Amino acid sequence: MRCFHSIVVEGMALEPTTLKELGLHIQLGHGFLNSCPDPVETDSFSIMDMAGIHDVSLDYCGCDTAASRGQQLKGARLYPVPWGGSSMINPDAAVTFELVRYYEEGLEEEEEEGRHRWC
Ligand SMILES: [Zn+2]
Repeated sequence: MRCFHSIVVEGMALEPTTLKELGLHIQLGHGFLNSCPDPVETDSFSIMDMAGIHDVSLDYCGCDTAASRGQQLKGARLYPVPWGGSSMINPDAAVTFELVRYYEEGLEEEEEEGRHRWC
């Protein structure tokens, strides 16, 4: 998922904006480009990725057969994060799998460097 940033041409100048400001809602639970007949809208959801923290509008699937919110996030390659008083059951933030992998690889490199330094 790499749909957090955008640049809009305003007259002759480029103005930074977000896809949320342009009206994008990230839909979970129905696959790419499929809409949900009963979405549960979350107007302010934070996603942390390699470029920073992004405020997005995220819609969970609210169908009778919907998976849990955590499962829906993981289906979009996002780990739920309890942030600002939210919970793992009802998260309002997530970290991309890519950022977690990057962090884990950095830790492994540090461990390896530490072994060489002290052995
Ligand atoms: Zn649905």
